[in-house]
Amino acid sequence: MITFSVVGTPIGNLEDITLRALNVLRNADLVLCEDTRMTKRLLDRHDIHVKTMSYHMHSKLSRVEEIVGILRSNKSVIQNVVLVSDAGTPSISDPGSELISKIRVELHNEIVSGALKIEAIPGPSALTAAISIAGVPCAEFTFLGFLPHKKGRQTLFTEIMSAERTMIFYESPHRIMKTLKMINDQCSVSGESADDQSKKSEVRLKKITICRELTKIFEEVVNGTAAEVFEYFTAHPDKVRGEFVVIVSNT
Ligand code: SAM
Repeated sequence: MITFSVVGTPIGNLEDITLRALNVLRNADLVLCEDTRMTKRLLDRHDIHVKTMSYHMHSKLSRVEEIVGILRSNKSVIQNVVLVSDAGTPSISDPGSELISKIRVELHNEIVSGALKIEAIPGPSALTAAISIAGVPCAEFTFLGFLPHKKGRQTLFTEIMSAERTMIFYESPHRIMKTLKMINDQCSVSGESADDQSKKSEVRLKKITICRELTKIFEEVVNGTAAEVFEYFTAHPDKVRGEFVVIVSNT
């Protein structure tokens, strides 16, 4: 039997890895990595020395076919294949789903017969780490991944600001100020009709939570109204760095 394990890896602190993930990585015949140098840092930290191969969002179809070929071959010496991304959980705003979808289609018979098993080795994700400490209503939420840079961005912001559910997305340090300004502008929209007025008051009740550099030395959670959060980061340009999760919730 061949096992294809999809493994969650740390989002900053290299100690955030499960015992199961370490065992699976140690026994891997091949580890598919977004960036082999990045994953080697994690493997070296845990004294794991295994063969790696790159698989990322720009990988060609030939690489996908090569991986499917490896998983198909029951005579192969390779029995344990692992997929990791640079950080966190594969398939969450990271490569994974497309490859796994292809494997599920192409190797359907092997999966049904038990010759191939696709298994999850759960681990950290910036999404769940952020929710766990934000203190926002999260019985239901919508995760948007990275927002589009241009097309549909404005419409999405309008949706985010009037949503009933908590809205969560990832943002880069290059765009975070622009995003916070856009949220703030949205909150200051002045409506004239009664409908506009009620939308405006709904939007005003939004609470913004920024989770920055989770699990790292400068981990920080900043929350408040859109204006308060925007002012905070304007006043502390040194904190407009690192990795961000943005949460927009109803207070
Ligand atoms: N697959 C990953 C996961 O499970 O979280 C996400 C990968 S995505 C390419 C990278 C984005 O996740 C970053 O731009 C940031 O928005 C968020 N992120 C990753 N690590 C983070 C951290 N330590 N603190 C805050 N956000 C983080």
